[in-house]
Amino acid sequence: VTGPHRFELGPYVIHDVRHLFLAQPPGAIATPLDAVDTIEVHHDGVLFDGRDKNYNGTTLDEDIQRLRSHHTHALAQGWGSYPYQFAASRRRLFYTLDMRYRGSHAKQRNSQGRALVLLGDFTTAQPPNGQLSIAGLGLALIRIIIDRRAPVNAHTELPSPAGDTVCPGATWPRWKPSLLAFRNLHHAALLDTAHATRATLTEEIPQGV
Ligand SMILES: [Zn+2]
Repeated sequence: VTGPHRFELGPYVIHDVRHLFLAQPPGAIATPLDAVDTIEVHHDGVLFDGRDKNYNGTTLDEDIQRLRSHHTHALAQGWGSYPYQFAASRRRLFYTLDMRYRGSHAKQRNSQGRALVLLGDFTTAQPPNGQLSIAGLGLALIRIIIDRRAPVNAHTELPSPAGDTVCPGATWPRWKPSLLAFRNLHHAALLDTAHATRATLTEEIPQGV
């Protein structure tokens, strides 16, 4: 198995790791992007249960290792795919699950949502600014792929039962405005090339690489 496919969109670098976490039926189900009504923000504190507080995301290997543990966890739960479409580490944006597929991130709302996860536990500490910028880029790309605006909500802001969680941590209200400001900034920067960007991000990925 090869490593991430690194590609550039203007000034931005995206690490495409969809081929490392291929969505397999029956767990992986394609659902129409027309039905998407929410873009969700998560943290992975829920998956790590606070046990990996020393994560700092310095190296690519550390990031990949953490993404693999998400995937292993998801498969153990019978979810059949990587849970989220995009993942933002401290330094890198990963395209993890093809946008055509629903993930497994919000109870009874996986078909209507597309999701980005921030690596880290933000129960008491908020994400650093650089990570918010990277996550904002992910949200901009999701908006470009679905080709319209959709509200951005934290996992906990979804209606019950999906929202019965503290994800992405109690600090969310403090960083939501910065996250959306970064989303707007990156979206504006990508607007001229939105068509090409959408084409790049919705290309079929090679199977069994
Ligand atoms: Zn969540």
